[in-house]
Amino acid sequence: MGDKKKHINDAINLIENEIGEIFAASSMYLSEAWGFDSDTVFFNKVIAVETCFNVFEILDITQKIELKLGRTHKTTDKYQSRIIDIDILFYDDKIIETQRLTVPHPQIPNRRFTLQPLAEIASDFIHPVLNKNISQLLAECNDKSNVEQRNN
Ligand code: ADP
Ligand code: MG
Repeated sequence: MGDKKKHINDAINLIENEIGEIFAASSMYLSEAWGFDSDTVFFNKVIAVETCFNVFEILDITQKIELKLGRTHKTTDKYQSRIIDIDILFYDDKIIETQRLTVPHPQIPNRRFTLQPLAEIASDFIHPVLNKNISQLLAECNDKSNVEQRNN
């Protein structure tokens, strides 16, 4: 919501300061609402970060960044618009399944707005659970919603 481009850039700056160096970043992508009816257009970006932190520490930090940027509510049972949502897609080829954290993010194969930017920076990366690379997952994705690459 609000100045979406700014929220994403603010989040990226905080991630770079607090988690580690960003070594790849996709373009910005615009996508239509997913999972609920809304006129809202979503902005999405995927980044790759080099870090010394473990994945639980990263989740602590990204959740603090979400709060700092003014995200007030957690997602309940319904999808809704919010200021910022930072998800951990992969952590190397690690597989983590706990109450608090699932990595790789379970929705990756179902979301074109994730796969398209991911393919821009990591098309050959192999999903450690599905054993397919990102290009393959994108080609097989059933989500036909509109995702548009922006130039800036
Ligand atoms: P969503 O991202 O599905 O829209 P939220 O951002 O509100 O929903 O996240 C809800 C919870 O999902 C978080 O409190 C977090 O503990 C959990 N979670 C599980 N796996 C992940 C992941 N890979 N990345 C980010 N959050 C995750
Ligand atoms: Mg999230």
